Amino acid sequence: MPRRNWAGNVRYSARRFHRPTDVDQLRRLVAGAERVRVVGTGHSFNRFGDTPGDLVSLAGLPPEISIDPERRQVTVTAALRYGDVATRLHAEGYALANLASLPHISVAGAIATGTHGSGERNGNLGTSVAALEFVTADGDLRRVDRDADGEVFAGMVVGLGALGVVTRVTLDLLPTFEVRQYVRLDLPREHVAEALGSAYSVSLFTDWRTPRINQVWRKQRAGEPAPPPDWLGTTPADAPQHPVPGMPTRNCTPQLGVPGPWHERLPHFRLGFTPSSGDELQSEYHVPRSAAAEVLAALDPIAHLIAPVLQICELRTVAADRLWLSPNHHRDSLAVHFTWVDDPAVVLPVVAAVEERLAPWHPRPHWGKVFGLDPSRVAAAYPRYADFAALLTRLDPRGVFRTELLDRYFPR
Ligand SMILES: Cc1cc2nc3c(=O)[nH]c(=O)nc-3n(C[C@H](O)[C@H](O)[C@H](O)COP(=O)(O)OP(=O)(O)OC[C@H]3O[C@@H](n4cnc5c(N)ncnc54)[C@H](O)[C@@H]3O)c2cc1C
Repeated sequence: MPRRNWAGNVRYSARRFHRPTDVDQLRRLVAGAERVRVVGTGHSFNRFGDTPGDLVSLAGLPPEISIDPERRQVTVTAALRYGDVATRLHAEGYALANLASLPHISVAGAIATGTHGSGERNGNLGTSVAALEFVTADGDLRRVDRDADGEVFAGMVVGLGALGVVTRVTLDLLPTFEVRQYVRLDLPREHVAEALGSAYSVSLFTDWRTPRINQVWRKQRAGEPAPPPDWLGTTPADAPQHPVPGMPTRNCTPQLGVPGPWHERLPHFRLGFTPSSGDELQSEYHVPRSAAAEVLAALDPIAHLIAPVLQICELRTVAADRLWLSPNHHRDSLAVHFTWVDDPAVVLPVVAAVEERLAPWHPRPHWGKVFGLDPSRVAAAYPRYADFAALLTRLDPRGVFRTELLDRYFPR
């Protein structure tokens, strides 16, 4: 079991590492622990999940993907990677509504941090969750259901790993579908909003070196017409692209409008290529989608700070939802993402500058990435923050799942 996260910027400070092979072992472990946390695939960039006590991987539990055709839902074990779930679902004729850019992340770890893909009508990955099975702080096994436990359920889905150990997740299914991915180059800034709304899932990439958007990744349902040659002033890419200039395009999902199944087009990166470690840091802020133009204009004055420490910036959209700690809670969102160079000393001051510039829009940071916003500002951006804090205390009175960073944002 790795002792560091994928990016290598977090060395886990746990005293003991565990890999239980059945749920009863896991329950005993949690019940007997002073402090415990689960790690998924370790793709987050901060210390929310870093415990000084026992760190547990669920990768040793028997994997399960169980489809219920009547309810059109699938129940999966928490540690499975989205990519593995998706491959099986497609083979059985089903799809999930959306995926993140990387299919290698665990289902429970992704949901816990509000992970998302893109699309004005697509909610984050947590919005497909219909039920969660979890081990409580006392070691009991419980289930919360969207229909039966409405309010608590809305509080638990984006749970930061702090409410229990999620063992199984039930997800809504769609019939499988095909997607074609087109990459267009050099989008003028004035067309950003139109481009973002132009297809099922759209990502814009910019390096902040010019006001133009370097690349538009348009992932459209296969039946929709291809963008015309002069679409929004862009030019069509005539070869596969990587979002970060100079990186190998063979790691990316097929482009050039070649139709293929949803799970091989909605992520940017292929499941078959596993980057062993990441020489990068990431930050991301969700702001109201309607403010896209103003938000980009607000960052212009610090473009000269951003560009030298940036690998690439990505703009995506996420539909509003009702999950308490979702960065998209009751707000159709623009997600402004930064893949930084792998050097906290030069990156953190720029992160602070970005946060300052975004302040008027009450930015909600991605819970799995690097941010430094003051807890009072994060709390003010979430109408249900205090309810989540109360749920934390109710479900984990012993503070078993508490970590230093969690205590900073949700003081006891
Ligand atoms: C290359 C790359 C691309 C990315 N692309 C995207 C993207 O497109 N969109 C996006 O929104 N994010 C993206 N992310 C961020 C990533 O999706 C999140 O950080 C996500 O949390 C990673 O899942 P994980 O399983 O690796 O989580 P981990 O880092 O292992 O854990 C994250 C949190 O979840 C908790 N947790 C994990 N498993 C459980 C469980 N079973 N029960 C309870 N709590 C649990 C942990 O304790 C921790 O607090 C990307 C990250 C990388 C490195």
